[in-house]
Parts: sequence; structure tokens; C-alpha cells
Amino acid sequence: MRDLITGLHHVTAMAADPQSNNDFFTRTLGLRRVKKTVNFDAPDVYHLYYGDETGTPGTVMTYFPFPDIAPGKRGAGEVVETAFAVAPGTLGDWAGRLAAQGVDRRRSDERFGAQRLVFAGPDGEALALVEVAGDARAPFAGGPVPAEQGLHGFHGVTARLRDGAATGELLRLMGFRETGTEGAITRYAMAGGNGANVVDLEIVPQAPAAQLGAGSVHHVAFAVPDRAAQAQMRAALVEAGQQVTPPIDRDYFWAIYFRSPGGVLFEVATDEPGFARDETVAELGTALRIPAQHAHLRERIERALPPIRD
Ligand code: ZN
Repeated sequence: MRDLITGLHHVTAMAADPQSNNDFFTRTLGLRRVKKTVNFDAPDVYHLYYGDETGTPGTVMTYFPFPDIAPGKRGAGEVVETAFAVAPGTLGDWAGRLAAQGVDRRRSDERFGAQRLVFAGPDGEALALVEVAGDARAPFAGGPVPAEQGLHGFHGVTARLRDGAATGELLRLMGFRETGTEGAITRYAMAGGNGANVVDLEIVPQAPAAQLGAGSVHHVAFAVPDRAAQAQMRAALVEAGQQVTPPIDRDYFWAIYFRSPGGVLFEVATDEPGFARDETVAELGTALRIPAQHAHLRERIERALPPIRD
């Protein structure tokens, strides 16, 4: 099944306040909001997407802001850290920028030889910047962060599990290769692909179960080019015993979902049709887009959603 999956597609997490979420990802981190829409299953809740200029798969962090949600508790069975790639030599400037904006800097460390800066998002979620040489993906140049320091997209995610064997086997089926272990972290990576190509498994046998809430990652999506590749991947996953949903139309991609053995919700999403499906590239993320099945509720939805100031 190698070569079907090209890396990560998006990471979706929960937030409390849409305004602080928007400000953090667009101003502090300098990503572009590429879509402002609503949750398919709860259309009175926003679904905000942040990424590069066009929302290229492998760059897209998405959030469901539920204003009354309690904070999540980190634990086993979830993604506990999301990492973005930045150019070598930029972490010093980033540390200054984050400090000036009052961001909770947690630590600087090194993992598999790469320098990292770990900090908290607005809901306490662990985010990291990782210095990666030669990342050809262009950062969004239209935000407040100088382009040479901008985020190139995801480097990868870290999932905390009590046992990594079955998830490792699944990742191998999905085209990842185990590349090394450092302390509690075992790295799975793929060569080439879209650049968002690292999944680190942090094995903590005694970890309490994660509790979903604000700051929790809801799921991680892996990218396939198109629906034919998705169908092939789905067949392989079913053959391997995974319970996989049928393909679901998410307007900007087609998605299949399954619960990985360690408890993390996985998705496989298509690169097509992309975020410019219903807005021009210049307009991406500006107007509230409402999925067709909820279009008749537009007035009610617009009244219920808190406005977001750009
Ligand atoms: Zn998703």
C-alpha cells in the first residue's frame, strides 16, 4: 500500500473561543485562514481552517470552537502535540515573537537531531516548531510573520499511546517506515510525499486515558491524491480488520474515518477538490461558507455564531 498516502492532510482540534483561536493562528503563527465554515454535524459551531495560501494538504490545522467546552485532559489515545516545520536558524526569532505575545513557552528541545520549540496554543494545546532544512513548501507570505520565518506546513504529530505495536503495524500498512527510537518516542516517517510526513508514537504504558475538550486534537487526517487512491487504501484497511466508514463528502475533500488501535481517530482525506472549490484563492476564508445540506439554515446559523473580527 506504499505510495497511496502522501503524508498528513489536516489535523482537527477543539477550541473554546473562536476569536482567540483565529487570532492565534492567523496573527501569532501567521497562517492564512483558508475556510470559515461550520461543523457538518453541529452547524451552529464554526469549523475554521488555517494553512498556507491555498490550504495545501499537509499544512491545514482546523478547529471546532465550542464556546462552553471544558478544557481537555491530555492522555493516552490522542495526538498530544502538533509540530510545524520552519527554516533552520529561525527558532530564536520565534522564541522572541512568542514571548512578546505572551505565549506560554514550554521548552526548547531536540528530537532526532532537530531543534524544536514547544509552546501552548490558546487552549493549552501543545504546538511545536521544528527546524527542517530544505523544506520546499512556501509559507504563507500575506500574514504578519516574515515569509523566511513562516510555517512551511506540518512536520508531524505526536500520539501518546499505552502500547505502540498495533498502531505501528497500521502505520506501516499506510506507507510509513519506523525510523528510530529516542526515549519513549518511536518515529514513523515516509520519504518524499507532501512534506508533512512524521508520526511520532510516545509510548507511556501507565498514561491515563485522554479526555476530549478544548485543546484536544479530535482526529488526524492523512492525505491521498484522489478517490481512487482512497478506495484502495480503504480496501487495505478493511482487509487488515479496521472498521472504516464509507467515503463522506466534506465539500473540500472526501473523508473516511477509522479508530486506530491505540485510540486515535484517523481519517484518510483526498487532496481534491480543495478549498478553492467555492471561493477564489484571493477570497479564501473570508465569507462564511455553509454546506449545501444546511444552506436553508443560513439565517439562523449566522445569528447563532459569534462574529469573528479579522
Ligand atoms: Zn478531518
